[in-house]
Amino acid sequence: MTLQHTGEYLVGGEILSFTQQRIVSPLQKDEEKRIKNLSKKERALRFNGFVITDKQGEIIFEDRKRYAQHFFPLSVIDYVRAMYNFERHKRPIPILSVDSHDVLQCDFKCQDCLSAHGTNFPVKQFSKGNFKMDLKTYKQMLKAIADYSEKRGFKGVRFEQSGEGNPDYYKHRQEILRYARELEMQSVYVSTGSKIDDSLRNSLVENASFIRISFPGIGEAYKHYSGQSEFTFTDALDGVSRIVKERDKQGRKKDLMIGARVALRAEHSDNYFSFANKLKDIGIDSLQIVKILVPEGKKPSDFPLNSGDAYDLEKTETLDDVNFNVSIPHGLDSMVYSREIENRAEFPTQCFSARFQPVLAGRSLFVCTISDIMYSHNLRLGTFANEGGELERFLSSENIERVTTGIPAQCKSCSNIYDNMLLFSLQKLFRTNPQKLNFYEIIK
Ligand code: SF4
Repeated sequence: MTLQHTGEYLVGGEILSFTQQRIVSPLQKDEEKRIKNLSKKERALRFNGFVITDKQGEIIFEDRKRYAQHFFPLSVIDYVRAMYNFERHKRPIPILSVDSHDVLQCDFKCQDCLSAHGTNFPVKQFSKGNFKMDLKTYKQMLKAIADYSEKRGFKGVRFEQSGEGNPDYYKHRQEILRYARELEMQSVYVSTGSKIDDSLRNSLVENASFIRISFPGIGEAYKHYSGQSEFTFTDALDGVSRIVKERDKQGRKKDLMIGARVALRAEHSDNYFSFANKLKDIGIDSLQIVKILVPEGKKPSDFPLNSGDAYDLEKTETLDDVNFNVSIPHGLDSMVYSREIENRAEFPTQCFSARFQPVLAGRSLFVCTISDIMYSHNLRLGTFANEGGELERFLSSENIERVTTGIPAQCKSCSNIYDNMLLFSLQKLFRTNPQKLNFYEIIK
């Protein structure tokens, strides 16, 4: 008789059982095989944190706060390993992820747009032609990034295409998706989906690893917050449904993650649960309910979350299972969040994020997406001009030191605060504990 497994699993160099009493033990062969055969997506849907163990198998670091979708199709373990190799073996850090803003056009006017396309996006601060993303240039940049990381032992760079506006408008999108796949990059596509036609949908489903549709609001609030009267909430849901059907038709259900993201809104009280249920019925894999940034000059405590909302969110979280991942914000006290660096003494003295996951805005490579940082000429890592060896130059230790030194001192808030803080904790751990360490994802 096989005992029912009631706990979790640790998945790393080996697969182990992890009980509620925190006992780590080997697994029976058939169960081990079952876990080993899970696809990246199936594993991500079961992700529940990670641990680091020492030589004796003792857990010396445990983190339950990361959201799998934040890293997917990578895992937080890829970041842990890159930091470990850097600290222990002086191996240079590869680019793990690149966030590409390749088109300056949008049909929405979202109230809390982070890029404020066409309104205050500082196009003039970029060199002339920066956003003329012709196919040849774009391909050369992607190849340079993939080669850079491969030389440093990492294949499968996460390649997020989120536009600086609506990425559906980029005219060479399909060829870029296909080419990225040829380079073994992993495309993550973030859009409202308003301009996804049959051809783009087929290409996305064929080539991407993760398609995430953003909902500026739920129901009536969609129109209000999107500033869009032609593409409605129902159109967005229908669009998601078509993507799911295409995925099933192409036989990619095991690998391709389809997700949605929606903001916390005062108008949404009592809506999250029914919205999540609808999406679950449609067949998507993941839903992120996120807080928007606190308006400048205000504090999160100025926007308390009422108990009805908190109740509905907690109820929504119960829909989470091994086929449907729901993430709600960690703190349910306020409607909005702040990325302010409150305690500088606890913040890293260098920006790790710039090394692990730089940002491409047109042809320019930047350290992050905080606008006053991103758009400062002197804080740019470089602009591609199709000359050989450019990326090596942009990321040479001299240039990266020049650009990242002092940046955390200048940054009042940090767009990657959680990643930077995590990487800093890991760096401290790897410096203080000289043992050989092992890393495991915790999965349900
Ligand atoms: S805001 Fe954060 S991610 Fe951006 S440069 Fe400053 S420390 Fe780095």
